[in-house]
Order: sequence, then C-alpha cells, then structure tokens
Amino acid sequence: MSQSLRLNTTRRPMISREQRRQQEVLRLLRLHKRTVKCQCTYCGATGSNMRRCSLCKSVRYCDERCQRADYIARHRSECTNFKVPPFTTTFITQPIGSLKYALATVFARGYRDGVGCWISIRGTRKASLVGLASSLSMRQSEESARSKILMAAALGGHHAHKDEHASWHGPCLLTVQVLLQNRRKDGRPVLVLAARSQAISSPHESSMRLLMQKQRDCDAPSTYVDEDCRERASLQVASSNWDGKPRMYMANFDGAEYSPCQPKPYQHPPRSVLDANRGLVVLHPGQFAVLHFQFCVGDGSTIKTEWQALRCLERFLVPCVSPWDGQDAANYDEDATAARLHAVQCAIDAQAVDDYYRDIIDGNEAAFVASHHSNAQATVCTRGLGRVAQQDRRARA
Ligand SMILES: [Zn+2]
Ligand SMILES: [Zn+2]
Repeated sequence: MSQSLRLNTTRRPMISREQRRQQEVLRLLRLHKRTVKCQCTYCGATGSNMRRCSLCKSVRYCDERCQRADYIARHRSECTNFKVPPFTTTFITQPIGSLKYALATVFARGYRDGVGCWISIRGTRKASLVGLASSLSMRQSEESARSKILMAAALGGHHAHKDEHASWHGPCLLTVQVLLQNRRKDGRPVLVLAARSQAISSPHESSMRLLMQKQRDCDAPSTYVDEDCRERASLQVASSNWDGKPRMYMANFDGAEYSPCQPKPYQHPPRSVLDANRGLVVLHPGQFAVLHFQFCVGDGSTIKTEWQALRCLERFLVPCVSPWDGQDAANYDEDATAARLHAVQCAIDAQAVDDYYRDIIDGNEAAFVASHHSNAQATVCTRGLGRVAQQDRRARA
C-alpha cells in the first residue's frame, strides 16, 4: 500500500474533529458579532439599531447622547490614536468565547497622517511558515505530509484557508495580515502602496545574516543605512514563482470578505482597488482593508517558525500617500527609498511575540496547540505526529 493511502485512512477521524473545531469557532464569531453590534459601548444597554462611529467603526451607541458623552469622556483620543481597530470578524484582536488567544493577535501597530495600521501573523497553529493558497509550488514530501496532519489537528478559526493547497509548505514565507484604515477628519482619501511594503530587520548582525540569506526563486533582500546610521536588512514583499507578481491578496475590503481559494479571486474587485498587482488601494475616510503579504525569510532551512523570523525583525513599513490628491499613482510607486518616506511605521512588540509563542519557543508543539486551543486538539496533534514518526520508521526499515 502506498504511503498516501495509509495516510488517508488514519486521517479520517481527525478531519471530523477539525470540522467540529471550525464550527465552534464560527459559532463563537457569530455570537461575538451579535454582542458587538447590539451593545452600546458607553452605557452597556442592548438594542438593535445601534449607531457606530463612522470614522473608526470600532464603537457603537444607542443614540447621539451616548455617542457625545463617550466622545468627550474617552473616545476622542482613542479614535485619533488608533487604540482599537475597526470591528470585523476577519481581524478579531481579542480572545473570544473559550479561546485563550485572539484569532488575530496584534504584533505590530502604527499610525501616521490619519492612517492606522495593525499587523498580525497568519500561519498555522503550529507556527510554521506557510505560503498563500493562490500561488504555491506544490511538492509531495514527508515534511508536507507531516504538516498536513498537524494542520488538520491544529488549524482553526482561519476558515478562509479551507483549500487543501493552503496546507502545503512554502519556502520560509512569513505571512503577515495587515489591517489599514483611513481616519482622516478632512474627508480626503489615502492611497495604499501595498506591494511596496517592507519588513525591516533589527540592526544586529545575527538577525541580518539570518534574514539576508538569499533563497532560490526569491528576490534578494537589500540593506540600507537608516537615519541613525545603522545598517539594516530590508525585505520586499516576495514575488510569486509562477508569474512574478507580489505574493499578496486582499482578504477584506470595508467589511466584504474575499477568499484566495475561489477559482478566480478578484473577479469583481471593489472600485477602490486601482491595481491589484501593485496593491494600489484607495481608502476613503472610515474605510478599511485587510491585506495579506508574504516575505521570504531565511534560506529555506535556517528559519522555520514565525517567532524566529519576528525576533529578527524590528518593524514593518506600509507605504501610504495621505492625503492622496488623486494624482497618477505611478508618481508615488517608484522605489524602496521613496516608499520608506511615505510609510506607516509599525514597530514589532517583542513581548507580544514572546507571549504568543511562549510554548513553541520552549520547544513543545503540542503544548503550543493546547495553550492556543484545547487539550483535545493537542491530543489529536500529538497522535498525528506519532503516526507520522511510525510511518517514517516503517518507510526506512
Ligand atoms: Zn448607550
Ligand atoms: Zn471613532
């Protein structure tokens, strides 16, 4: 019997658990959505027709009185300082229901000229680096079989990644999930130059060395000297092996969800997407977008997990022209140096990274799954790993 057939028979019960797990997360999300939509942020009363702050879309009120009172007491500074991201089920930054960790833990945050930016990581629960579903080179290997079992056991909540291909390994691709929002009070739009986003290393030599190793089929990272005369590595958004386009996609525009797993993504992109390949997106006040980018980190063998990559990085830069006067976008979309000047700088919170990945840093994948999910999931995960190890031994014998 071939190995793949054997894998299929052993995997069947785990898939139903995984489906149960996804159903549970969806139920929690629906419940959370209802609570948020029906509760007044100021007085706590519940109702059906709540009005929300049109600029940040993160708070709701029974009426104008509650809204005005909260604005004076608290919300004025919260709104302008981008304390809380807009509410969307694609980017839940607080733990909900029985979940111990948020579905999108914020690891970096920043704002500039009325544009706010929140950054999370979108990988597997095992914290491996994986590729975006839309552009992956598929290869059958023991590593991918192993990761598929772990994925089946551990992946939850990220229901957009139902596609089988999503569980195949990419070559050390760090997938970041970026939420951007325009909160300009003068009503003017901003232009996001998403494909020009960069991940910047810390100035330490060891971090730079780890990040600078060029991978086969990946763009070479570059170095530059920052304003404090320190050399840093700067990683561009990786380009696809297939068509050379930047590896990114938009998961959500102002509340409407998009999936990379549809046969033809962006069949009807919103009018605000000026150029999908260059990631040029216009945001009018109050509008937000959730974008996924990938960066190549390591040489395919030295960096295996997200926390290792995040420890070598210091910040992400997301270039935005704010305000945008409607000029030809090509005027701004020039080179890396120009992009750095326009960028919203998002410093990585090292403590948040360590807190989230503590169990895997201490070297135990099963403990990580258990702490981020439930013991039942961890048991499935451990059992799956045991089976793969057994098959490996049998294959070698
Ligand atoms: Zn109220
Ligand atoms: Zn607000």
